[in-house]
Amino acid sequence: MKIAANIHIIPGVTAHPYLLVDSDGLTLIDTGIPGSANKILRYIKQAGYARRDLNRILLTHADYDHAGSLAALKKATGARVYASLFEARAVATGQFPRSLKTDNIFLKPVFALAERLGRISPAHVDEHLSDGQVLPVLGGLFVVDTKGHTPGHLSFFAPSVGVLFSGDSILSVKDRLVGSHGSVTWDQEKADASVLKQLALKARIVCSGHGAVEMDGLARLIKLAEGLTLAPAYQRL
Ligand SMILES: [Zn+2]
Repeated sequence: MKIAANIHIIPGVTAHPYLLVDSDGLTLIDTGIPGSANKILRYIKQAGYARRDLNRILLTHADYDHAGSLAALKKATGARVYASLFEARAVATGQFPRSLKTDNIFLKPVFALAERLGRISPAHVDEHLSDGQVLPVLGGLFVVDTKGHTPGHLSFFAPSVGVLFSGDSILSVKDRLVGSHGSVTWDQEKADASVLKQLALKARIVCSGHGAVEMDGLARLIKLAEGLTLAPAYQRL
């Protein structure tokens, strides 16, 4: 499904993978839960490309719903894989990139089980990305350090089309944008700072890891940031 001329969202996969089209080949942002590789490859074929056209896979972070099909897709396509150093280390072992947090003693064993079940097939990341790097994708794709959800979370911003790929640092929920919060958030203060940092990019469209693509992205980002600046931290927990 096309969001803009050169940007597709691949339907039916959790979390959303995005396919970016350039004249020299394709770039995929995130890979969905384990078992999504065939759906993604089918979509690439239906869009008129060969699997070998996939040059790059970029990871926002190493959670199982974003990196779950990385190993299979890398094997099938030979694509070069990019992520932050921290998330690359998590992907290399297949482990969760941070522990799920709770003070509830009954939830602790449930979360420990979720972390065990959430392991993915390990994969090798070829190149480590850091804040401010620009990739030769969509006329210049900026790497934005948006740690908070996980320690090495990255977003990607394409100024040529005004599109922000926010992973799980900003989520689309019922026609609203929300920052990462709750037990899946590694560091709430850093997560909030990452929201404000992304507001400054003035993206028109926000493509997050979950929920609808937000075509009215800037207005929704402003609303989200206002809530963060005005509300004391405890009101958001
Ligand atoms: Zn996710």
